[in-house]
Amino acid sequence: MTQTMEPQATEAQGTLPRVSHWIDGKVVPSASGQSRPVYNPATGQQTKTVDIASVEEIDSAVAAAKAAFPAWRATSLAKRADIMFRIRNAFDTHRDEIAAIVTSEHGKVLSDSAGELARGIENIEYACGVPQMQKGEFSEQVSGGVDVYSIRQPLGVVAGITPFNFPAMVPMWMFGNAIATGNTFVLKPSTVDPSVSVYLAQLMQEAGLPDGVFNVVQGDRVAVSGLTEHPDIAAVSFVGSTPAARRIYETGTQAGKRVQALGGAKNHMLVLPDADIGLTADACVSAGYGSAGERCMAIATVVTVGDVHDPLIEAIKERLPQVVIGDGTDPASQMGPLVTRTHRDKVASYIEAGAADGAKVVADGREHPLYKESDGFYLGVSLIDDVTPNMSCYKDEIFGPVLTVVRVDTYEEGVKLINSHEFGNGTAIFTRDGGAARQFQFDIDVGMVGINVPIPVPVSYYSFGGWRASLFGDSHMYGPEGVKFYTRGKVVTSRWPDPATSEINLGFPRTK
Ligand code: NAD
Repeated sequence: MTQTMEPQATEAQGTLPRVSHWIDGKVVPSASGQSRPVYNPATGQQTKTVDIASVEEIDSAVAAAKAAFPAWRATSLAKRADIMFRIRNAFDTHRDEIAAIVTSEHGKVLSDSAGELARGIENIEYACGVPQMQKGEFSEQVSGGVDVYSIRQPLGVVAGITPFNFPAMVPMWMFGNAIATGNTFVLKPSTVDPSVSVYLAQLMQEAGLPDGVFNVVQGDRVAVSGLTEHPDIAAVSFVGSTPAARRIYETGTQAGKRVQALGGAKNHMLVLPDADIGLTADACVSAGYGSAGERCMAIATVVTVGDVHDPLIEAIKERLPQVVIGDGTDPASQMGPLVTRTHRDKVASYIEAGAADGAKVVADGREHPLYKESDGFYLGVSLIDDVTPNMSCYKDEIFGPVLTVVRVDTYEEGVKLINSHEFGNGTAIFTRDGGAARQFQFDIDVGMVGINVPIPVPVSYYSFGGWRASLFGDSHMYGPEGVKFYTRGKVVTSRWPDPATSEINLGFPRTK
């Protein structure tokens, strides 16, 4: 394919490129007349517009996916696996282009965009194993001449609704397994960084994916409602904030769909008195401020047990000036801007609120020169100490480069605190005591746990998902649970009788 940075942008609307839908293998500009601005967070300048789908455009994307389903479902496992390998190779070949598109609209540094993509590609690699994963079971001779076997079949048209913070990886969490198992897919990405989804669609087409198997609709609530309530959509995967996750789960399941809806997070790191201070401080800085804290698995709160508090705070403080903040395209930058001005200002408001509530602002991101002088959506790193559970900076998901610190006296107090929070996405313990770590994994009511690992995102052959208000539904995302989510089981009981022994028998079938 001809490589351009934003091949999905169609003719200018005014002077700005326009990001449109991808339906049935083509870029389809919206006729709704509705659009939203797309910004480069590093400069604060609007760079594009993104179309907003009408109800009719949602219907047309679903219709394309529905029309493509019978042939795709009937495509052999060998052929589907072959196409998944080709898709994996296309994404691999175009890592730099994909990362550049992500950085240009999200703001994260290029190495972070590349890291997101690498984890996304691992999900596609997992989906390449579809012939193995979609295998059923077989029991021979369950009764005289009778065999029983199970098969897993695709659901039909499935939808994915994804957040701004991982515009490449989170869709790959979903569509890899969905498509590999024989479903067709409609993706509704965030309007904040919509371009990469259409670029991926183009790469998949070039890799041999038939038209209509993967579609993208750009849009907002109308698109989300349209997909969540559409009679031809069998299942919805959602990742985003908790209020939207809860609503989509309720609406989708009421409409009879299978729904997995992953929500927000407030991940705690419990630091025991025996923890290695240097290693733990490095982890706090990396996991607290990486991607400007806009990760659902970021560490948001450090819970210090006993005497570890003061040396750890000192070690974190020492490291803060080393965090280089700047344009994500500059290789020297370690942390880019936040995604929008509105979000940056909301994050900054929690620093103010923490101070007003009596917490100690050890480092204030608003003092960073780029916060004051740049038109980009920058905020420096913040460290708020002496936080208590009643404060908004503790209770709310801030989703920015703000690390809060809560002191506790004992391990038990720390576990109780973590288990009492609304969210239960990820957590980590830092200690040199294996027994304490093992007890923590037993005690903690959180879906993903790290032991001296601050961001314990499961590898692609496990599944991803939190507990409590971090996930609505029964199924975690990607890995074995993802395959199960996108398929349904059928059990076949089979006999090839000898007509000579056939008889009428009205009794309930017995196996013995
Ligand atoms: P968001 O909820 O604002 O948006 C997510 C998606 O839903 C987008 O496509 C958006 O257009 C759509 N949407 C937003 N509001 C909606 C509404 N009222 N009705 C219907 N659709 C709506 O989330 P975001 O700001 O894009 O992403 C950040 C959030 O995502 C954070 O809360 C973060 O924790 C969460 N997140 C969670 C995970 C996880 O695995 N649990 C992973 C990544 C992000």
